Amino acid sequence: MIVIAIDGPAGSGKSTLAKNLAQALGFVYLDTGAMYRALALKAQRLGIRPDDAERLAQLAESLAVEFRRDASGEQRVYLDGEDVSEAIRTPEVSNLASQISVHKGVRQAMVARQRAIGAQVSGLVAEGRDTTTVVFPNATLKIFLTASPEERARRRQHQLQMQGIEVPYEQVLQEILERDQRDSTRAESPLTEAPDAVRIVNDGWTKEQTLAYALQICRERLGLPAEAPHG
Ligand code: C5P
Repeated sequence: MIVIAIDGPAGSGKSTLAKNLAQALGFVYLDTGAMYRALALKAQRLGIRPDDAERLAQLAESLAVEFRRDASGEQRVYLDGEDVSEAIRTPEVSNLASQISVHKGVRQAMVARQRAIGAQVSGLVAEGRDTTTVVFPNATLKIFLTASPEERARRRQHQLQMQGIEVPYEQVLQEILERDQRDSTRAESPLTEAPDAVRIVNDGWTKEQTLAYALQICRERLGLPAEAPHG
């Protein structure tokens, strides 16, 4: 099994890179953040408080979250059979996901599920905050993807605009900084750069440039074919 694990802060372009790499290499894409987001959405709907560690851990164990591809090949996220791909991307759910993911029991349940998904496939691209350090410590290739907070805030604001959500730049930046702080200082599996990860800083790069650079590293490290398949 080949595992490419990508970690990095919010807005670094992990999801885009992971999705594009998976497509180029014919691997399965695992968006671990989407799982925490789905849990946050479900907790919100059930009225479970973000500090109720016990109920959240129980919920994480039984959470019916699935990834499915639509007709165009795009991966969608389902919660209890409902397509929640857009609902989990609001700023409110982003903040809630970051709050509920601090609990040990929640993380244990999620990590077990993520490893189970990995065990079923021959090639995986996983991305999140702890995929290089906790979920897949023996990943074939580890990437730490990052960019300045300002660049990441600009991207996040643009993404939100594409979804029809208007948030002032200063507010997006503030939320990114808060999320960075919480994700990197929590006691359980904080966002850290694995010592054996390749660091990519992609300020000012297009997603195509980030993909090309990462593919180059994959070829060098994994002995993959020189040209990625297209399509
Ligand atoms: O990556 P994304 O922004 O979708 O993740 C949402 C939140 O879920 C993060 O801010 C983080 O708190 C949490 N998360 C995590 N561990 C992961 C992936 C996401 O704690 N592996």
